[in-house]
Amino acid sequence: MINLAGLNLNELEDLTSELGASKFRARQIHNWIYLKSVKSIDEMTDLSKKFRDELKKVARVTDVKIKVKQISSDGTIKYLLEYPDGQCVETVLMRFDNRANLTACISSQVGCAVDCSFCATGKRGFIRNINYKEIIEQVLTIQRDTGLKVTNIVFMGQGEPLLNLDNVLKAMKIFNEDFQIGIRRLTISTSGIIPQINKLADLGIHSTLALSLHAPNHEIRSKLMKIENKYPMNELHKALKNYNDKTGHRITVEYLLIKDLNDTVQSAKELAQYLKDIKCNINLIPYNPTEKNDYQRPSNKSIMRFKYLMEHSGKKVTVRLERGADIDAACGQLRGKVCTAKKTTPQE
Ligand code: SAH
Ligand code: SF4
Repeated sequence: MINLAGLNLNELEDLTSELGASKFRARQIHNWIYLKSVKSIDEMTDLSKKFRDELKKVARVTDVKIKVKQISSDGTIKYLLEYPDGQCVETVLMRFDNRANLTACISSQVGCAVDCSFCATGKRGFIRNINYKEIIEQVLTIQRDTGLKVTNIVFMGQGEPLLNLDNVLKAMKIFNEDFQIGIRRLTISTSGIIPQINKLADLGIHSTLALSLHAPNHEIRSKLMKIENKYPMNELHKALKNYNDKTGHRITVEYLLIKDLNDTVQSAKELAQYLKDIKCNINLIPYNPTEKNDYQRPSNKSIMRFKYLMEHSGKKVTVRLERGADIDAACGQLRGKVCTAKKTTPQE
């Protein structure tokens, strides 16, 4: 049985010609899948009943299940999706009242090997990569379930996208060409995998790069993120500069603010110095308490002080609004509570 989700127009044309139908049928199916996001082949009403019946014998619209769906009072919807092998991932739809944007926060891996000390996903280790069709399915599920069209996509769910780069790039191409989402509305967030950042720079990629920096110096960063020992901040600095130069694009620097650890005036000064010659915007993320660790969210006063100091250094700074706090919307929280599927061998 073929899963139609993730097939591009050429692949759909191959399928329709195998069924003895014209290329135009492929175009119709393509619209139904990516723009209208129907839940079944029967809903593709401009195809004849006879052709739909033929198609149903060999293909289906999806093979993922919505295992849990939670709707927050702020309109955020969180899904726990189950793939056919029983593995689950989280996908979140965020709406912002003052904008027409619908942002899907999607996962690139089941689990994550990077194991940052503040992150619920990292705590459970790496299970497997998510292939590009499975990545596509996350956004299609949102569109099918809500009847809405996603306008922005961020790889900020579970997993390290740059450690599954081939699938992430294939999915990005489909988001851009088949879903018709503008390339700058697609964001890859990384913990700082230097060789892959350089690869993106060499590819001259135009999507948005977000870097999870989270610390102003090596000492603090290595406490928060083990990856700092492999790809330290001084090397990262060169990769960011190279990315700026080769792509011409600004980077989004994400900075998790943790009380008394990296929210001090001294930290702000060091961060400003580190970012002085990097073209970037800064997104401050107040720490969202997860499971067992000692970190705390800073006071609003301290968040605003940090914001002010960074703005004073000449950067554009935003503070990430907390979304879906009442529905475990932070990275990795829902899967940890609900899904108990065991590890499997990694697959492509
Ligand atoms: N692996 C990639 C992308 C997924 S994590 C990366 O680390 O960038 C997406 C974002 O969620 C990261 O910026 C991460 O720092 C943030 N995050 C993880 N745990 C968090 C928590 N407890 N509170 C707030 N943000 C968190
Ligand atoms: Fe992995 Fe990102 Fe979580 Fe770190 S923050 S463990 S890189 S998902």
